[in-house]
Amino acid sequence: MSVRTRFAPSPTGFLHVGGARTALFNWLYARQNDGKFILRIEDTDAARNTEEAYKVIYDGLNWLGLDWDEGPDKGGPFGPYQQSERNAIYEKYLAVLEAGGHVYEDNGAIRFRSQRKPVLVEDIVCGKIEFDMSNPATHPDMTIRRPDGSWIFHFVNVVDDIEMQLTHVIRGEDHLSNTPKHIELYQALGATPPKFAHIPLILNHEGKKLSKRDGGSSITYFLDLGYTPEAVANYLCLLGWSPGENREFLKTPEILSLFDLGQINRRNSIFDLDKCFWLNGQHLQHMSLERFEELALPFVDKAGVSYGTIDALRPALAIVKPKVKHLSDVPDWIGFLFTEEYPFDPEAVAKSLAKPGAGDRLQALGSALSALSDWTHAVIELKLKETAATMGVKAGELVHPARVAVSGRSVGPGLYEMFEVLGKARTLARFDKARALAA
Ligand code: GLU
Repeated sequence: MSVRTRFAPSPTGFLHVGGARTALFNWLYARQNDGKFILRIEDTDAARNTEEAYKVIYDGLNWLGLDWDEGPDKGGPFGPYQQSERNAIYEKYLAVLEAGGHVYEDNGAIRFRSQRKPVLVEDIVCGKIEFDMSNPATHPDMTIRRPDGSWIFHFVNVVDDIEMQLTHVIRGEDHLSNTPKHIELYQALGATPPKFAHIPLILNHEGKKLSKRDGGSSITYFLDLGYTPEAVANYLCLLGWSPGENREFLKTPEILSLFDLGQINRRNSIFDLDKCFWLNGQHLQHMSLERFEELALPFVDKAGVSYGTIDALRPALAIVKPKVKHLSDVPDWIGFLFTEEYPFDPEAVAKSLAKPGAGDRLQALGSALSALSDWTHAVIELKLKETAATMGVKAGELVHPARVAVSGRSVGPGLYEMFEVLGKARTLARFDKARALAA
C-alpha cells in the first residue's frame, strides 16, 4: 500500500512550530516513499474558524515548501478535506457503531463503550506500550458526540484517517495517550489502524511545553523577521532527529535523503532560538545569489527602496548577502547605495571622520583612487593599501573614515565591494561631501 500521511491542524489562527514540525515530518516521510501528503483541517470547533486562520496554515506550509497533494483548496479523491463539511460521513460511521452496539446515549451525548481490554500501541518512535483500559475511573467511555450534535475530535479524527486511507499517523506525543482510545474505535469499526509515530514534545528553556507566549513559537515570527524557510525547516527537523556526526547545517534535499522516521529520539527537544538564528546565517551565506534575490526582494520592495532596476539591485544584494542575518535587514543594509541623502550616524562620524587629519587622509585617498581606470574591488583594495603605505599610516586610518564617508555608518558590506557597486564618480563625490564633516 502506498504511503499516505497527513497534517491535521485545527485552524486556531496560529501555526505553532510544533505543528510545523509535525507537518514537516509527515511531508518528508511521504516524499521519501513516493507517497501522498494530505492536508486536513480539523475545524469541528466552528466558532474559532475564520478564513484568516486557514490562511495562516496555507501560508506557513507554502513558505516552508511543504506542498500537499490533497487538501481543502486542492480537492482529492477523499474530500472534502475540512471536517465541518463531512457531517454525512460521520453520521454513516456512527450508524456502524450503533449497529454494533458500541455506543450509548448519556444525557443527550453519545458515548463509545470501551471493550475494557488492554490495548497495545506499537509506535515507531515510542516502541510497544500496553495501555490498561480496565478502570472506567481513569479511562471513562469517551464521548464522541455532544448533545448539540457536534462531534468530538477523537471520533472524527479516526473516521477521517480511515476514510482518507492514511497509512501513517505522525503527530505530537501529546496525542499518545489518546491512541489506545483511537485503536478501540478502529477495532469497533472493523478497520486496521495506521502505523503511529508520536514525536517528542518541544519544550522551552524552562522545560515547559513551548507555548504561544514563547518567542519564536509561531511560524509567522520567522516569516516576518525574514528568516529563510530552508533554515527554519532545517531547524525544525533537528527537533527530535539528527543525521548523526554532529551535523546540523542541512539543505532540504539532504534532509530528504537522510531523514529517518525510525531514528527519531524519544527525548523531548528544547527549543533554541539562537540555534535557529545561527542556521539562518549559514543558509543565507550558502544559498545561491538567485535564491537570495528571490527571498530578499519582497522585503526590499516593502521597505520602498528605490533601486530602479533589478540589474542595479543585484550587485547591492550580492555584497550584503554574506553579512545580513535576516532578510528584513536587507533594506537597511542597501539603502545608502541608492540615495545621496543617506544619513550619517553621529557616533560613527565622531569615531573616524571627526578625528584629526581624517579629512586630509580622505582627500589623499580620493586623489589616489581617482587615478584608477579599473574600478574593481581588488584593484581598489590594492590602491588603498599602497596609499596607506606611502603615507606611513595603517590601512585602518583610511578604511574607517572612507567607510563612514560613503555609507554614513561604521558597519556594512565590504568596503571595496561597496566602492565598486557605487562606482568611481559617486564614491569620490561622497568623499568630497563627507570632508565637510571631517576634522
Ligand atoms: N487536530 C489535531 C491537533 O491539532 C490533530 C491530531 C492528529 O494529528 O491526529 O492536534
